[in-house]
Amino acid sequence: MKLITTLILSLFLFISACTPLAQVAPVPALEASTPIPTSIPTLTFTATVLPTITPTLISTPTIVPTLDPLRSTPPTLMLHRPNLQFDSLAFLKEFVKILQQNKMKVVTYRDIYNNPNITATEQGRLFIITIDDISLAYPMDKRVVEMTDILQEAGYTAVLGVVTQTDYPYPETVARLKQLSESGWEIASHTDNHANLGKLEKASTQLVYDEVLPSLDKIEKTIGIRPITLVLPEGQMVNNRETLSNMGLYWVVGINGGVTYDSRDKILYVGREGPDKNAEYTYKIMKMRFGF
Ligand SMILES: [Zn+2]
Repeated sequence: MKLITTLILSLFLFISACTPLAQVAPVPALEASTPIPTSIPTLTFTATVLPTITPTLISTPTIVPTLDPLRSTPPTLMLHRPNLQFDSLAFLKEFVKILQQNKMKVVTYRDIYNNPNITATEQGRLFIITIDDISLAYPMDKRVVEMTDILQEAGYTAVLGVVTQTDYPYPETVARLKQLSESGWEIASHTDNHANLGKLEKASTQLVYDEVLPSLDKIEKTIGIRPITLVLPEGQMVNNRETLSNMGLYWVVGINGGVTYDSRDKILYVGREGPDKNAEYTYKIMKMRFGF
């Protein structure tokens, strides 16, 4: 019995004597595996954080990452007041019918500025209407007023390109523009004197500032909202877009090109289409150009 106990004891001693050796061996193995445990906590951390964020931000964050920053410019119609060559009033009446039939949603550049994702989430359903050459100094052309009436009756808003010119704006024009602005229309700058900014820039960048800044000031002073959109006279763009973004502009509206834009840019150039032989044909051409 004593012998067995001694045997067990010595066996135990042998094992315990071995254990330090056995312990030494796993250490490097443990050391080698240390980077794994440290990375695991960070993984579990993010996994636990995510569910706490998701409930409050369900709608926006789940959409945002999937949206392409490159967007199609909504098809944009460029209109002017009726003249002897072209009755834009009659054209607009027909065009509104087509927009209604196609269930297009008419928006402004400012609408997109306020809600930038609509050009992705509602791509192909948006449409923009612009009317240029509205002078702050003179009474609004009666037929242009009629054009705005037609759009309002349809429940549409539009973008008005205003030339500011004078220090003495015409009160009725101001009143009408203010009323339209308050009902969601966008008042855009069409410069102070309808100057070709591309030409001005070639002479001096300062001339571009001198032509645009006063118009922004005058619109803000009379209408109450500082424009974020510039409608380029004769569609002529400047080379240095920074000149325009420095003035707080966001949209620069020309004629050629600009059928897509990068929503990450701080200033966006977009193009437009003028009326063709009739409303239906123009709509067809715009469908091809803007791809909607
Ligand atoms: Zn113009």
